[in-house]
Amino acid sequence: MEIQNSQLEKFKELHREAIKFTSLDPLQRGGILSKEARKILDEWADGYSVCDYCGGSLDRIKNPPIEEFVHEILPKFLGTDIARLTNGAREGKFLIMHAIGREDDYVVMDQNAHYSSYVAAERARLKVKFVPNSGEPEYKINADDYAKVIEEVKNETGNFPALALLTYPDGSYGNLPDAKAVGKICNEYKVPFLLNGAYSVGRMEINASDFNADFIVGSGHKSMAASGPIGVLGAGKAYEEILFRKSEKYKIKEIEQLGCTARGLPVITLMASFPHVYERVKHYDEEVKKARYFSEKMGNLGINQLGEKPHEHDLMFFESQKLFEISQKHKRGRFFLYDELKKRGIIGIKPGLTKNFKLSTYLLSEEEIKKIVDAFGEIVNLNL
Ligand SMILES: *Cc1c(COP(=O)(O)O)cnc(C)c1O
Repeated sequence: MEIQNSQLEKFKELHREAIKFTSLDPLQRGGILSKEARKILDEWADGYSVCDYCGGSLDRIKNPPIEEFVHEILPKFLGTDIARLTNGAREGKFLIMHAIGREDDYVVMDQNAHYSSYVAAERARLKVKFVPNSGEPEYKINADDYAKVIEEVKNETGNFPALALLTYPDGSYGNLPDAKAVGKICNEYKVPFLLNGAYSVGRMEINASDFNADFIVGSGHKSMAASGPIGVLGAGKAYEEILFRKSEKYKIKEIEQLGCTARGLPVITLMASFPHVYERVKHYDEEVKKARYFSEKMGNLGINQLGEKPHEHDLMFFESQKLFEISQKHKRGRFFLYDELKKRGIIGIKPGLTKNFKLSTYLLSEEEIKKIVDAFGEIVNLNL
């Protein structure tokens, strides 16, 4: 079938409306490029741009300095022996699960885990058992429950789980569980431990060795000021052969990576932003202070933060009966909150949500925080 020219017109000028707004979307706040990355975008934007001097292994490219970044800088930054680039946090999780698990093995993970952790396990043909959270209002993960669930798997199947995963923090409530305690338990049971740092690596200082984690994954486009898609994976030396075993026919190609991963602009923006990221993680305490201030101001408006309190992360989950009640009277119904915020230059809360929603205050300026609090103040007092 012929594609009509008229149909193609709209693709010739793709613009992004959202660029003009302040976004509260937790997915997006940590992926905003550094000015250093933005400056060199155009030079590297063409496909395979980093492959001018590639000898067949992405992580061994010297110009641009990917080799130094992957093999010297990333392991130090992640607190692991070895590191690689992946296409995202989920690809890192899948790689680990696929490499170390055998069909029908179990993965133990927290109930607050991201859907991609579950889907990665499914794709690797593994089974999942959850460590439950504490329910309303804090939804906490209790580290000791990892021991219980590991024992359950052992009792039911005769084998220990192939892997335990902890989400640090989770993407729903922004809770930071006691990863050190979970690491200790996993070590005692000799169950390999994976820390999912999609919302921490690149935001806060985080070192896998502090938690006795065998593996850590991060997300470049979520938390490391990279265009993506790109992720980072760190692991202990003991797992090098298992995770990065090479093809029999193509001797330098790593099988689990399908030979090559995040090339071109994704890796360039990750590296170009790295000095900025390395600096910003040292100031995460300011982001926590900001989040707590925001949580308090919202609470005063009857919009209550759930999840851990006091909060330790910029991602926050809110509940508001008040906004829900307004939505029942407003002519725009449940879309009123989205509309009213947008009118005030703010986006990032999913259209249609009023009673429960999440947002992030990461790297917002004082003026932006004030603008947002004022906007919510006006909205809860709307005269209908
Ligand atoms: C966003 C997110 C992911 C997925 O990250 P990608 O890099 O896009 O694969 C995984 N885990 C958590 C907890 C997340 O919030």
